[in-house]
Amino acid sequence: MQKPLKSICIVGGGTSGWMAASLLSSALKGSNIKLTVIESPDIKTIGVGESTVPSMVSFVEACQINLKEFMQATSATFKLGIQFDDWRDQGDSYFHPFGIVGKNINGFDFYQAWLKSLADGNISRWGDYSPNAVMAENERFMLPPQQHQNWVLANYAHAFHLDAVKVAQYLRELCQKRGVTRIEATVKNVTVDHQQFIQDLELEGGTTVKSDFFIDCTGFKGLLIQETLKVGYEDWSHYLPCNRAVTLQTEQFTDPVPYTIATARDAGWSWKIPLQHRTGNGYVFASDFCSDGKAIDLLINNVSGKILNEPQIIPFVTGKRKKIWHNNCLSLGLANGFLEPLESTAIHLVYKTLVHFIKHFPDADFDKDNERVFNQKINADYEEIRDFIILHYCTSARSDTDFWRWCQTMPVPESLSEKIRMFKKRGQITHNSEQFFSSDSWCSIFEGMKIRPEKYHPLINGFHQKSLANTLNENVKSIRDTVLKMPNHHEYIQKHCQAR
Ligand SMILES: Cc1cc2nc3c(=O)[nH]c(=O)nc-3n(C[C@H](O)[C@H](O)[C@H](O)COP(=O)(O)OP(=O)(O)OC[C@H]3O[C@@H](n4cnc5c(N)ncnc54)[C@H](O)[C@@H]3O)c2cc1C
Repeated sequence: MQKPLKSICIVGGGTSGWMAASLLSSALKGSNIKLTVIESPDIKTIGVGESTVPSMVSFVEACQINLKEFMQATSATFKLGIQFDDWRDQGDSYFHPFGIVGKNINGFDFYQAWLKSLADGNISRWGDYSPNAVMAENERFMLPPQQHQNWVLANYAHAFHLDAVKVAQYLRELCQKRGVTRIEATVKNVTVDHQQFIQDLELEGGTTVKSDFFIDCTGFKGLLIQETLKVGYEDWSHYLPCNRAVTLQTEQFTDPVPYTIATARDAGWSWKIPLQHRTGNGYVFASDFCSDGKAIDLLINNVSGKILNEPQIIPFVTGKRKKIWHNNCLSLGLANGFLEPLESTAIHLVYKTLVHFIKHFPDADFDKDNERVFNQKINADYEEIRDFIILHYCTSARSDTDFWRWCQTMPVPESLSEKIRMFKKRGQITHNSEQFFSSDSWCSIFEGMKIRPEKYHPLINGFHQKSLANTLNENVKSIRDTVLKMPNHHEYIQKHCQAR
């Protein structure tokens, strides 16, 4: 007999709390499950989290939000990928684009065909085959038309740079219109039963809120999942030693570019995220190698434009909860874990957690197998992203500071070591459809870090040299021809989705 849930209570009104309420209000339409969000008037949201990946577009669509209205309300710009400066060595720069790179040829990965063409004397760059990279280089953007025959238009992908505070405000309004109950109060006490199921929350002022299920979106502390249920934390600081960030906003004084810039620095890296009305800046650093004072100075010396606020220091511990879902509690956002924002994946993990949760949506019997399989899936997502981030550090050739010298011999998880070994031998990437980073993404980082395989796939030798060269030239030409007809990114925003 099915025993459906009757109520879900989301605790926390930051990006993750309101994303949960927005997506669930769409997914649970017609179910009669009551959704409530409790947010504290006294505990601030983190207020960062402004660079996203293409799954944010899927989130907007899944919530039936009008994309242009969302961009106007959140002062958003479009993002085509990330420019990585000074990572392999000081002075180096490469681009990690979203979307595909090249068209597969005769069933072989494009990367393999490109490697053969290099051996044949081709001198093109990897990025020449990426619609996103060419768009970024030329600061072009337009939303893909609904109907077209052109493979370039069908294969670029985009995300957004967003104002985090405005995102929460926009989603809050949307949810309230959709019937989500909002309670403005601080949770003071959490009651659990003898089986460690949460029963109710006591709010400041004495009111009690009961619910069948709880989603913990209370930020790093994890009020329900950790402070109450004590599931434990898997600390990954030994792999990724950056543990603090300093953030700063500056006035936007040039046209915003359609990409994030991540620059390797003395003891970590800094970001630049262009919004319509300002730029978000930050320096992620390791406290073993840099003091807060030095980090603030470094950031201030490297921003452009008028500084709009006081620098803010944010400490964090890289890792994730040992159980992201436990009994009648799901943890979400910073409450379920954190990986440094080098590839802008935290909001993506919020969305992915919710997608898994909806797939494994519980009955009131809270089947343990269901919970276990959910936890395996989200753990795999975390580990994949962790490995991808480590790749940026462990392949660097920099040895100019203690931090970068440490990276030369840093520990690497076996899952990543195997991936690097396989790639170095013949450019193979093991990848499955559940994973977020495509083979093209892995190749983009390897190529950017100047790591090329010893050999390519043996059957590629069967490709005719001249016809391969012609195919690749056509590829490059069709991308350039299509991209150069697109409008300028800034002009496109001004015309279609200028902030209100
Ligand atoms: C330095 C840094 C840079 C980042 N950059 C990116 C990025 O570029 N891209 C990206 O995708 N992500 C990024 N992130 C992550 C992103 O900021 C978060 O994933 C996102 O903001 C979600 O935060 P949250 O809602 O989980 O937590 P928070 O914003 O901390 O919200 C917590 C909420 O819980 C409420 N609360 C807490 N305690 C109680 C209580 N007792 N009672 C009631 N309410 C309570 C608070 O009032 C608040 O509303 C970054 C994070 C950091 C630290």
